Amino acid sequence: DTATVSHSFQAEVSELLHLMVHSVYSETDIFLRELISNASDACDKLRYEAIAKPDLIGDGEAPQIRIIPNKAADTLTIADSGIGMDRQELIDHLGTIARSGTKAFVQKLTEAKDGTGLIGQFGVGFYSAFMVADRIVVISRRAGGDEVWTWTSSGGAGFEVAAASEEEAKRVARGTEIVLHLKDDAKKYLEAFEIERIVTAYSDNIQFPIMLVPEEGEPRQINSASALWQRSKSELTPEDYAKAYKSIANAFDEPAMTLHYRAEGRYSYAVLLFAPATKPFDLFEPARKGKVKLYVRRVFITDDADLMPAYLRFIRGVIDSEDLPLNLSREMLQNNPQLVQIRKAVTTRVISELEQLADKDAENFDKIWDSFGAVIKEGLYEDFERRDKLLALARFTTTTGEKRSLKQYVEGLKENQTEIYFLVGDSIERLKSNPRLEAAKARGVEVLLLTDAVDAFWTSARLEYDGKPLKSLSQGDINFDPIPVTEKAEDEAQPAADEASTIALIKASLGEHVTDVKVSTRLTTSASCLVAGSHGPDRELERILSQQAR
Ligand code: ADP
Ligand code: MG
Repeated sequence: DTATVSHSFQAEVSELLHLMVHSVYSETDIFLRELISNASDACDKLRYEAIAKPDLIGDGEAPQIRIIPNKAADTLTIADSGIGMDRQELIDHLGTIARSGTKAFVQKLTEAKDGTGLIGQFGVGFYSAFMVADRIVVISRRAGGDEVWTWTSSGGAGFEVAAASEEEAKRVARGTEIVLHLKDDAKKYLEAFEIERIVTAYSDNIQFPIMLVPEEGEPRQINSASALWQRSKSELTPEDYAKAYKSIANAFDEPAMTLHYRAEGRYSYAVLLFAPATKPFDLFEPARKGKVKLYVRRVFITDDADLMPAYLRFIRGVIDSEDLPLNLSREMLQNNPQLVQIRKAVTTRVISELEQLADKDAENFDKIWDSFGAVIKEGLYEDFERRDKLLALARFTTTTGEKRSLKQYVEGLKENQTEIYFLVGDSIERLKSNPRLEAAKARGVEVLLLTDAVDAFWTSARLEYDGKPLKSLSQGDINFDPIPVTEKAEDEAQPAADEASTIALIKASLGEHVTDVKVSTRLTTSASCLVAGSHGPDRELERILSQQAR
């Protein structure tokens, strides 16, 4: 059946499209890099599938991307000879939102009222083309397939799918053609120099040739298409890296850390990794995977190989192996010993690079910590081997009001202080008024104020830094007596009451609700506080666990 069939967009897509169509967002340029990024993904997928089925490429052209402006028709076409889409794929991929990042974006939008400012922070994929086009026609042939289908939409409630005309089918021998019917205010994208400017800025590192097909003259390649990570560090400038980051990670910000090296030895591989400076909105989505791409001898294999531990899932970039087989199946990826080794070595390297950054470029380190510290802290209970290193990297807001490392904390220990103290809670403000701080305050002892959800978990293990145990002020066995009091309590000390009889009275009235009642040196102005036993769970962890049990 070749008749035109109408489909409705998923509700979230309609919402997104409404925004795109009415967008007043000024940086519409990003549509081109989104479409080029999709074209490049499609070429990558074809090259990967062709390892097992060489026929898919046959003697046809090597995968490439073509940009074709047409001033007479006011159309801009982005064509690729990649994997293509069959009918069902057109409906599924261009009718719903699959990526968690875009989903998070749509959620933010409904909260934000005017969401246009958010577009640039996300990368909203294919649908961003509706910022510049009032009608989009996609013509696609799945590699190896006989059928060619068209998908057409004006960005309203839905789209149409129909069989391609004979002429279209002939033109699209493989891959996808995206024809943008440009809005009046987007005609500038028909100019060769505009196209070239955008490609150079965002897509220069795309691995496949990007050909500009001008209305007059010969097609010419407008990207350098080099696998930048294969080049030597000495020939590359910070600008080269910043550009590579944008095109490899599909990012908009500047990288806060760049790590580029080549490992030689038992295994050889090139590494080019970046830490973003800003936080993506789906950072805490459980479905979010690491986005380090695995290449084998410059052929993209997958971005699903878990090349980084979960607590480094914000790292972006490429690892390109010289030794792995090209026909690596997804199952083989799971426990390939070589990949396990690579992952281990690269993880160690990333952490030592973060250490160095903290020393030499605190400003960028702080950006990383502010954006991803809560994620890195997951490593404190997931990665025992590197726990000490991660603890040394961590920065904590403390009662001094500053973000401090444990090294700084230990340098400021008070006379006779042998432990590192912390309190876990919801907000710094609430923690500051916690009565459990009083004894520490009276002695000038610094306390870490921990407010990330993850803090309740890693602190439940018994940790040490530099031989000093970390202790929660909400647990029982803390003795502040040896540390001299430096600040007078606000009220004059009361004459010692008959402690034993007071305790007996309190115990009698609280009965089984408490395991013990003790006189404490922790309080100076409050009369009493509740603490967990020294071997029980932290009170904060108890609270979180009981919330989750509900
Ligand atoms: P993302 O690229 O993050 O998946 P997009 O909105 O950019 O999200 O694209 C949605 C999906 O549409 C892609 O995942 C892909 O399956 C499909 N797609 C888009 N463009 C192409 C193309 N040129 N060739 C093949 N598939 C494509
Ligand atoms: Mg995309």
